[in-house]
Amino acid sequence: MASNPVMALRVAPGSNVKLHRFDTDDTLGWHKESAKRELEKVKLRLDVLQQRLFAEERRSVLLVLQAMDAAGKDGTIRSILSGLNPAGVTVSSFGVPGGPEVEHDYLWRVHAQAPAKGHIGVFNRSHYEDVLVVRVKGFQPKAVWSKRYDHIRSFEQMLSDEGTTVLKCFLNVSPDVQRKRLQERIDDPEKRWKFRQGDLEDRALWPQYVAAFEDALSRTSTASAPWYVVPADRNWVRNLAVAKILLHHLERMKPRLPDPEDGLDGLIVE
Ligand code: AMP
Ligand code: MG
Repeated sequence: MASNPVMALRVAPGSNVKLHRFDTDDTLGWHKESAKRELEKVKLRLDVLQQRLFAEERRSVLLVLQAMDAAGKDGTIRSILSGLNPAGVTVSSFGVPGGPEVEHDYLWRVHAQAPAKGHIGVFNRSHYEDVLVVRVKGFQPKAVWSKRYDHIRSFEQMLSDEGTTVLKCFLNVSPDVQRKRLQERIDDPEKRWKFRQGDLEDRALWPQYVAAFEDALSRTSTASAPWYVVPADRNWVRNLAVAKILLHHLERMKPRLPDPEDGLDGLIVE
């Protein structure tokens, strides 16, 4: 696996992540046209393994996506999951908590969306918002959010122990590419619905978000729930990288089709 360039994106447990050391514009040695062909091949293989995972019905996969606005969480989901059997994929998006969500602990709504056996679950934002936006905007005091790294590690360990392969991708976009994409959202009528003025407030807090992401990545990348820092300035690099990371984990799981009934060899359907 050492030859698989996406494995170099993994955050080693216990490391002290400094995001300025990561190149958001990295191509990982790939070229655009061949990368697009490669993505199609990776997706065919994902389809085969997803089908086996679904038939096996014993284990699940959870892919967590976190990023600054406009880094491409939605685009990644659309790109890598199209072509899979929708019956076995669940995508959950986590926005500002409301209703019963605010009346419970922060993991309550998250646990409820954890993938069922046989499923690939994708989190578009997640419990990490509770140590990111909540910390940066001061929605909770430090005494509250600082304890959450331990909770999160234990929660993800529990999921892993109970049969869920957990993998987490931070889509790492540069401030300049974010500026262009937010501008595009304002200017393009098809994209304007995605823009909120609050996105500019978050953008102005960039250094605070970087610090919060660095702490989250450093403190919660574990052997059983690793983080990957994915270069996200180029969509085609981002999509292929996340697809390959997902494929790497599915290959390692070796999902197995259930044993067929005995006596089927040579049976002819009249
Ligand atoms: P979007 O993903 O663009 O639909 O935006 C969802 C918004 O919900 C983002 O601004 C998030 O920061 C916010 N959000 C998600 N989870 C939480 C949370 N636990 N507390 C506060 N805001 C949150
Ligand atoms: Mg948004």
